[in-house]
Amino acid sequence: MEQQWDGAARNGPASSSSEENSVSYILHHLNEDDNPFGAVSPPLYQTSIFSFKSFAEFRDALTDEVNHSVYTRGNNPTVMLTEQKLAAFDGAGRAKLVSSGVAAISHAVMAFVKSGDHVVCVRDCYDWGAVLLAKYLPRFGVKHTFVDGVDTAEVIDAIRPETKVIYLESPTTLTFKIQDVEAIAGEAKKRGIKTVIDNTWATPIFFNPLKLGVDIAVYSGSKYFGGASDIVAGVIAGSVEDINLIQKQEFLQLGTVPDPFMAWLMLRGLRTLPIRMKAHYENALAVARYLENHPRIESVAYPLLPSHPQYERARSLFRGGSGLFSFRLATKRFADVIRFTDALKLFKRAVSWGGYESLVLPNAIKYYEGDDIPPERLPLVRVHIGLEESADLIADLESALREVTG
Ligand SMILES: *Cc1c(COP(=O)(O)O)cnc(C)c1O
Repeated sequence: MEQQWDGAARNGPASSSSEENSVSYILHHLNEDDNPFGAVSPPLYQTSIFSFKSFAEFRDALTDEVNHSVYTRGNNPTVMLTEQKLAAFDGAGRAKLVSSGVAAISHAVMAFVKSGDHVVCVRDCYDWGAVLLAKYLPRFGVKHTFVDGVDTAEVIDAIRPETKVIYLESPTTLTFKIQDVEAIAGEAKKRGIKTVIDNTWATPIFFNPLKLGVDIAVYSGSKYFGGASDIVAGVIAGSVEDINLIQKQEFLQLGTVPDPFMAWLMLRGLRTLPIRMKAHYENALAVARYLENHPRIESVAYPLLPSHPQYERARSLFRGGSGLFSFRLATKRFADVIRFTDALKLFKRAVSWGGYESLVLPNAIKYYEGDDIPPERLPLVRVHIGLEESADLIADLESALREVTG
């Protein structure tokens, strides 16, 4: 793992050594030095309600529910501790934990639009984000324009007087395209438009979009934050004002409650996030480089390989990369894709990603033999590179690639 640790990223290092905003301080000390009994693992407050000593105390809490634990559909101390660490990670005023990444996306967009408004969105964003704009919000009179997003002028040209939100994701799902996040956020700010970015891929360990002027970062906490493929969660990070608005409107209304045990598991996962991300990055680079030089591979889309079309942009944004990328098998035959997938022994055949295990998801998975598969989809394969030894993963791929005969 050479290059990218040299600080090319403009959004500043996540960790400034010993200071109170260092990742180490946030993870191991922030709001925990008074844990009961000096507990190293914070308590799990698995309770739905909280009681008060007096009428006055009860009333004070109820009138400021955003800042008090009254009922776990609103706040819970285990949830809040996790949120405080997530907010500090991103340099955000506040972070809100919700029940899934899709809830985070929906809340962050819906909070700022009403009937007649318009959203500009990157076309290859996570599919449920695209469905929200293409199918769900039109029922309420909210319009949208999908853009490729790589060319900033195209994004700016799509802005209308009624545009309220620009929705970004870098890199985009499956296609791994990268926007000029800082330039777009700057143009949006001038026009009073909110920018939202899905930062699930890089995590706050490798990228802090709020430091480049983005208003809101959303995450699927089901991926690296837990890191063990055992929780489903979402995170919204932004200014105190924006997150309080989302909490009062969408969160309390739609009831996308994070379970305290999920928050506790996430907190446990976060403790090892920095070291896991370094390992995913190192492994992914090794596997991506191997695949790139393989005769049965047509191309690899990993943002931190020099062959990526937005490599320089990726280097300026990301301090490192995650374990998720895609590649194209050098074949036009469906049978090759099926045989390759079935031959893998270490890679598990599954959706989602972000745990310690390596996964494979062929884009052709929704098709049957004899179907007319779009030729650009057929050979496209997404992998998540986990924490296994990269040499073992490469050996597994090497033998599976023998099944690809072209
Ligand atoms: C998985 C994922 C989501 C959705 O998160 P859930 O927790 O599954 O709801 C959103 N964005 C990206 C980039 C994802 O990979």
